[in-house]
Amino acid sequence: MPRSPSVVVVGGGASGALAAIHLLRHARARAMPLEVTLIDRDGRHALGQAYSTTDPHHLLNTTADKMSALDGDHGHLLRWARDRGLEVTGSDYLPRSVYGRYLREVLSAVENPPAQVLRRVTGTVIALERPHGVSVRLLDGRRIDADAAVLALGNRPPAAPPRVVEGTGARYVADPWKTGALDRVCDGAPVLVLGTGLTMVDVAVTVTGAHPKAVVYALSRHALLPRPHPHPLPPPVTVPLPSGPLTVAGLLRAVRLAVGERGGEWCGVVDGLRPQAQALWTRLSPEERRRFLRLVARYWEVHRHRIPPATAARIAELRAQGQLRVLRGRLVRASATAPGRLRVDVEADGTAAELDVGWLVNATGPGADLTADPLVAALVTGGTARPDAVGLGLEADSRGVLLDGDDRPNARIFALGPLLRGSLYETTAVPEIRAQAAALAPRLIEAIASPVLLVPRPSR
Ligand SMILES: Cc1cc2nc3c(=O)[nH]c(=O)nc-3n(C[C@H](O)[C@H](O)[C@H](O)COP(=O)(O)OP(=O)(O)OC[C@H]3O[C@@H](n4cnc5c(N)ncnc54)[C@H](O)[C@@H]3O)c2cc1C
Repeated sequence: MPRSPSVVVVGGGASGALAAIHLLRHARARAMPLEVTLIDRDGRHALGQAYSTTDPHHLLNTTADKMSALDGDHGHLLRWARDRGLEVTGSDYLPRSVYGRYLREVLSAVENPPAQVLRRVTGTVIALERPHGVSVRLLDGRRIDADAAVLALGNRPPAAPPRVVEGTGARYVADPWKTGALDRVCDGAPVLVLGTGLTMVDVAVTVTGAHPKAVVYALSRHALLPRPHPHPLPPPVTVPLPSGPLTVAGLLRAVRLAVGERGGEWCGVVDGLRPQAQALWTRLSPEERRRFLRLVARYWEVHRHRIPPATAARIAELRAQGQLRVLRGRLVRASATAPGRLRVDVEADGTAAELDVGWLVNATGPGADLTADPLVAALVTGGTARPDAVGLGLEADSRGVLLDGDDRPNARIFALGPLLRGSLYETTAVPEIRAQAAALAPRLIEAIASPVLLVPRPSR
């Protein structure tokens, strides 16, 4: 009996789940058999880093009307929630745990055996080879062959700050999104969070929620916190942009002009730019992209990735009570003192200070060291992939097809989500990833449709 065409999706977070959902739905619509194997290192299929939290105070930072899993059906999440008795409007910010449940259920609903089959595998992929189709090798020795692969690896882990880990032992939390990591830091001891972005906000909310008197210090070079979403949200504004080659200076001029014309109202301007962000990024030369990352990105991020009003109110309250203390500066050294205590030397506002804390949490955001990931390193070394021009991830063409070391498209290897940050920049949130998954599905299925190119059935 001829076997089904097959796809292996490496990385089972929201990006991998959205890819699997759109692939299986597309196959079903075409009455085509398809087997999708979704491999996740952490076994958090459909949840990944963002949606595996169990803290009900960790909210989506995007309103419910924009978070449907299905491209072309923007009311899907709202209908799903109302069908389950949740009173939700399009302008609500749902708990991320509820969204995780939604993604899991949508993923299960696209299974339609024996025609469209989804296999969930827990394991770490360490290599991807291209014999005829593709073949992935897992750390535990398993091998899975398929006709095509999708890489949905998420963000690189944050870089370890220098002079930190030595001696700090288990009191240093390298990844707050690891299962159970935040439970550990909720023992009432003071916490120093490195970074003042969205992850810091979540850590502060959880730690102070568990212990009403706990104190959280948050340290970053610029001490910039995510801005709150206004309520109601102003409508997005179309910003007139210069034609021809684009520079960061030109972009900033246009944005300042647009904000000035609206009496300082920047929110609609930022939201109006967002749908154009990928196109604008591709118009910047590699040098201009690096300039943006160096000078502008941190300001763009805090205005673009905003927090819901309820979260913003909680953060304001914690700051007013002295339970969240935001420091502008840098970490100098951290070392263990008594059992369960850390002494942390920081330089804050040009002054040396010493903090006595119980925990040190790294929330500095995605790292840029591609070689820290064995799979990515192997893909680059073997010539299957090449880093993008600014070193944030891997290079793909406009269709999400991974480019090899010689800039040729790998006809059967696709990528989506944060891995394409250097190629597209705005590629880390559900609306963008959903659109990528929807565009990828017909292209990938077309690429593997030819029976001549199918690989022999894998031995499992
Ligand atoms: C705290 C937080 C809140 C967010 N809130 C929102 C929001 O409200 N709205 C919004 O639109 N976006 C939000 N985002 C953006 C978010 O990044 C995306 O929505 C999405 O979660 C990205 O998913 P991903 O699958 O690409 O990455 P991840 O969630 O990181 O998943 C990648 C998965 O791949 C696995 N993996 C990696 N390498 C391998 C390998 N070699 N072998 C096997 N498995 C591997 C990892 O274990 C991981 O489970 C948020 C992000 C974070 C971190």
